[in-house]
Parts: sequence; structure tokens; C-alpha cells
Amino acid sequence: MKLRLRYCVLLTLFLSCTVNKNPEVTGTSQGPNIFGNSTATGNFNFSGSQCPNKSIDALSPVVIKRFNNASGGSEDIRFIPSTLNNTNSLESVGIQSTLYAYEEQKTCYGTDKNCVSTKILREPKNLNICNDIDSYARDSNESIAVNAAVNIDTAYAFYDSVRGSRPQLPRAQLLVHPVKTLNVYKSRSDQILVESKKVENNLALSPSFYGLPTFIIYRKSEKAIQKNFWNGAFLTDSLWALGHETGHLIFRQNAFKGLNYPQRLAHTEIGAYLPESIITGEPSLIDFNGLPRTVSFYDTVSTVNEAFADLYGLYVNSSNASGIDRINCFEKRDPTLDRYSSSGSFKVLSSDILDVFYSRLTSGEYNCTEPWFQDIHDFGQPIAHGIHSIFVSAVGNNSVSLADRLLTWATNINDLVSNNAEVELDALVYQGVKASEINSRLSATQCQTIKRVFPAFEQKWTNEGKLNCQ
Ligand SMILES: [Zn+2]
Repeated sequence: MKLRLRYCVLLTLFLSCTVNKNPEVTGTSQGPNIFGNSTATGNFNFSGSQCPNKSIDALSPVVIKRFNNASGGSEDIRFIPSTLNNTNSLESVGIQSTLYAYEEQKTCYGTDKNCVSTKILREPKNLNICNDIDSYARDSNESIAVNAAVNIDTAYAFYDSVRGSRPQLPRAQLLVHPVKTLNVYKSRSDQILVESKKVENNLALSPSFYGLPTFIIYRKSEKAIQKNFWNGAFLTDSLWALGHETGHLIFRQNAFKGLNYPQRLAHTEIGAYLPESIITGEPSLIDFNGLPRTVSFYDTVSTVNEAFADLYGLYVNSSNASGIDRINCFEKRDPTLDRYSSSGSFKVLSSDILDVFYSRLTSGEYNCTEPWFQDIHDFGQPIAHGIHSIFVSAVGNNSVSLADRLLTWATNINDLVSNNAEVELDALVYQGVKASEINSRLSATQCQTIKRVFPAFEQKWTNEGKLNCQ
């Protein structure tokens, strides 16, 4: 759920700026009937062909960590797996195989403003879990993988409870703790290493990593652990975070059903990272302001994709009290709030903000409380807040009903883009407005919300006769 624009900037010349990269964080609460209240005891053994002298015992309870929305830290949850197994690597309902040990390196030239292609330093291996899960360290590949798989399965089960006749989700890969290093040299001719950074403290969804959609779990950095960032929690403890990433897969499957474009939707590159500067307070060594940037249909769709994913994460968390506002540096991402943070600016999509997003020059950078409108996550927040508000006006706070409207938004987008390859942002957002209608009408409250949150679009929609206000 976090993103990194500057990274994108460096990629511009070679790859056309992928504005974002992201992962997520937070939330708690239960999904539909995933967690039994069993008092059964026993240890969960993941074992299989690559764990000699062990037998598979997949139905014993396992204790995982889950972020607690009220306390802002993590707590133990007893989980009874029904389908987790480990024959070749860890599998679950949503995960078809789990990988680790992958390493890649990207080289960029600051002055030249470009990055050369990524070099794979180590191929991924299958992750088997051969011992009692309790014997693994909290930040180990194994503990993190099990936590992630359980939360992803919860997000998949919630989708199944809502989807009706909509597409089934494909099983995905889970990639744990890849090492991705970005080395920035001064220029191609002057090979002085200016900055070297690892992607950490983030999650991502790649639409195709070695051919399959893949949930990517970056390592929590040593400094973040030392500083007790997230009150000791890991992003994989957060149902909101994994729900957000699952939301990207859902958006892709629904909004772009039958279409290849945009192929990069979600994150082709595994590039997401929460900048270490946010944890350490140390400024970046490179000034990324004033560089040329291009905003394409891909970025426009990606903005909607982020808003959609934030809402899916919220609804998986039962829609209210999601706890997003308790996750340090993700507070801005709570769609139920009309401000980016308690002291921040209002979530309003004005023409000024649109100008910043579509600017042909970079400006600003990420910080934890104020919005940065060249980032698709922050720019997407008014969309998430506005659409959530009009959904609540239509169906109340029931998370399944809200998620049903959310999926209808994606279906509406599919109808739109199937007929018209590259539509504008306001047309994509309008499909969410349409999904909030009851009997093809909008209530007075919904129309007030639209006027307040989408002032840059409201007049156009009115002129086009699209707002059927009561
Ligand atoms: Zn995202």
C-alpha cells in the first residue's frame, strides 16, 4: 500500500512512469466465518515431500498474529486451517505456491533520469514449512508467509460471499521477503553511487511474476523493527493490508475482464516501498523535483485501482472501525474519514488538485500526514471517500452490501472500457456514482456528497444529464 513516486520518476524514460507501487496496511476484525471459536489445542505442522520424516497434519489450529484495530498493535488469533498444505510449498485457498529467496537489482542514473533493466541475482525457491509454526521467529519467512496466507484467504472468502455470478479469483503466488535493491548512480558517465536502497516495509501485487499474479511481502526493515514501528505489528498482520492487495486482483479480474489492457495494472515491477526516510527522519539524498513526467491512462486507472483496493480492504474489515487510522503512516488511507489525517486537508477532488496530478513536472514527495497529489494513493483518497460515502447512503454500513456495490463499480468500468479504450478519470469515477444509485436515482444526500467531494466533475456530470438527483 504505499508508493513511491520518485522511483517512478527514475523509470520514466525507459518505462513510462509507473506512478505507483504499493502495498497496504491495517485492519482487524473478522471475515465471514473464517475464524472458528474453537478451543482445540495442538500444534500445526506444515510438512511435506521436502520435509523428511514429517507427516502432514493440516487440520490442527495455528496461532497467527492479527492487527487489533482498537489497540493499534497485534494480538494472537487461533486459526483452524482447512486447506493449507505444503506438498511442494505452502498452499492455501488463495495461494497456489509460496516462494522466497528471490533477489533482484535495478540500476538507475540520476542525472540521466533513467534506469537500466532489472538484473535477477537469485531465482526464487519454494518455501516449505517443516516445523511447528510456533518455533519460527516472528519475522521469519515461515511466520510471515502463514500470516499472509491466512489473511489473503479471508479476503478471498469475503469475495466469494459477495461475488454472485462475477468472475472467480485465480489462485496466486506468495513471494516472501524478496531483496530488491535500487542503486542510483550520479550519471552513466560518472559512476558515483549516490543512493542505494532496498524495498522494505511494504506489500504489493504483481499481475505476473514468473507468469502468475503474485502477492509480494517486503521485509519489515531492521530500523522499523528497532523503532517499534506500527506498535510492533507487521504489515502481514493486517487484514486491511492484505485485503487491499487482494482488492487489486479483484479489480483486475472484474474491471478488465476479457481485456488485456492495461497489462501493467497493479504492479508489474515489484517496486513498492515505504521510504526509509519516513522511519528514520533522514532526508533523501536526491532532489526529484522538476523532472519531466507523463501521466497516462494507466496512471488514471491505477488511481481508481487504489481507491477500489482501499475500499475492498475496508469492507473485508467489516467496514467500520477498520483501524487504518491506527497504522502509522497509513492514517491518510481511511476512506471513512473526510480528511487525510486529523489535522490534514479535506479529501476533495478540486481542479487545483487535478492540475497537480496531471502536471508534466514532478513536485513534492511522500509524507505520512499531508497528501501528495502526484501519488496515486493520495490522489485516489477523495475518490475512495466520496464513493464510500454515497455507497453508505445507499445501503448503510453492511460490509457485504457495500462490497456488492463496489464490485458493481468494477463491472460498470468493464462495460465502459470494453467499448472505449481510454476513458477519462471522471468517467471511471462516474461508474462508481452509478453503482450507488437506487432505482436509477440518487438521493439528495448523495448529490450533496458528490458536490462536496467531486467539485471538478459535478458540473460536467450535471451538464451531461448524468446525475439523477431527487
Ligand atoms: Zn495498492
